[in-house]
Amino acid sequence: MTKPKSMDDIIALLKRRGFIYQGSEIYGGAAGLYDFGPYGVELLNNLKQNWWKANVQARPDYVGLDSAMFKNPKVWKASGHVDGFADPLVECKNCNTRLRVDKELEKLGIFADEKMSEEEIKKLWDENKDKVKCPGCKKPEWSEPKKFNLLVKSNLGDFTEKNEEPVYLPGEACQGIYLNFKNVVDTCRVKIPFGIAQIGKAFRNEISPRNFLFRCREFEQADTQYFVKPHDNVENYQRIKQEQWGWLLSLGLKEENLKWHQHENLVFYAKDAWDIEYNYPSYGFDELMGIHDRSDYDLSQHMKFSGTDLNYFDQTANEKYIPWILETSMGLGRLFLAVISDAYNVETLNNGSERTVLKLNPELAPVKYAVFPLLKNKPELVEKAKEVFNKLSQKYVCEFDDNGNIGKRYRRQDEIGTPKCIVIDFDTLEDGTVAVRDRDTTEQIRVKIEEL
Ligand code: ATP
Repeated sequence: MTKPKSMDDIIALLKRRGFIYQGSEIYGGAAGLYDFGPYGVELLNNLKQNWWKANVQARPDYVGLDSAMFKNPKVWKASGHVDGFADPLVECKNCNTRLRVDKELEKLGIFADEKMSEEEIKKLWDENKDKVKCPGCKKPEWSEPKKFNLLVKSNLGDFTEKNEEPVYLPGEACQGIYLNFKNVVDTCRVKIPFGIAQIGKAFRNEISPRNFLFRCREFEQADTQYFVKPHDNVENYQRIKQEQWGWLLSLGLKEENLKWHQHENLVFYAKDAWDIEYNYPSYGFDELMGIHDRSDYDLSQHMKFSGTDLNYFDQTANEKYIPWILETSMGLGRLFLAVISDAYNVETLNNGSERTVLKLNPELAPVKYAVFPLLKNKPELVEKAKEVFNKLSQKYVCEFDDNGNIGKRYRRQDEIGTPKCIVIDFDTLEDGTVAVRDRDTTEQIRVKIEEL
């Protein structure tokens, strides 16, 4: 028997077991910022490695990149973020709660277009604000909606002194890819169609960071940008959509928890935009990954603002053009939350006791093997267990645990998703075999140490 999943229980587990901590917790915490603990960073790194393998190393037509986070301030002007990367905000004058107008209207089935002016948004808001509940108080008194830019300002040496624009932290990771398109074409043997992939941090002054890792102010994005000949977008777009869906399934996510959502209001440069949504416990379906057909907008803008020719010379077709771009962009924190939520189970065992278990894909599990001596006070068992640990830890992330009874040690490993627990007992000393216990079935088999 399994219990329905609740996000509060999952968050409590992630804290209790050292996956995720609130940012700056000893100072009272910082909204929208989280730190990955010892098990969290292992899982996060496994997700990144898996993504990198599938999207870069296993593909002849993709290459990787890691660009600097700080960029010339003109980049964010060219990208449209300085003028257009803004969410409409209202504040309750009674309790100071801030809400995103577009998200509140969406809950009422009304879709505010990103291109709408403050005036148009105000009209929509005024018509509907009486239906919006304030999470902070019973009698909200709303301010006028105002557009609030999400870019996070910083300062950096020369830029701060010489430029009129402030220096920004990246609002999205993908700009580094557009900036290096020409470098990659000039220095690597790539030919259109090809893709550039990057994992990078993004920072957004989110009005109301909420839902744990789902909406943070600092997060990491895994992006691919696929460059195609103009009008060569439709088939490639379909292929990319299918591949990303297939990759999410290959991680072990259940298909019934994934859903496609097509954007109704397209930004002016986009030809098509789809999200893959995940069914987060307690929150419901919401965006995990965006897949966007962006036309030649990005490279044209950077060509205009930088004055550098970003045309591509296609030798096969003997023509010059600005390539069109097909983008995939996924928040790794949202993926982390989806993978944990999918794997999380509270089961009642045959003996009536309850266990919490993360049935993670073994490739993603933070710890692959836990090694236990049956008894802590028998030096020969402890010594043998250390020998097994030393052997396995050369190749895999392992954990040694001699604390508490075996049942408790199994429970601890179940909660962090360790696929196999290895017990060194008195039979080991006799015949060189160990008990290997499976996380999902809880069954045990005996295996010779050399065969581990
Ligand atoms: P939303 O509509 O939820 O604000 P978005 O459409 O602005 O998201 P994009 O700009 O397309 O998101 O970013 C690409 C991906 O980055 C998203 O699919 C999501 O996984 C992730 N992402 C975006 N904003 C955040 C955030 N504040 N916290 C965590 N991840 C985020």
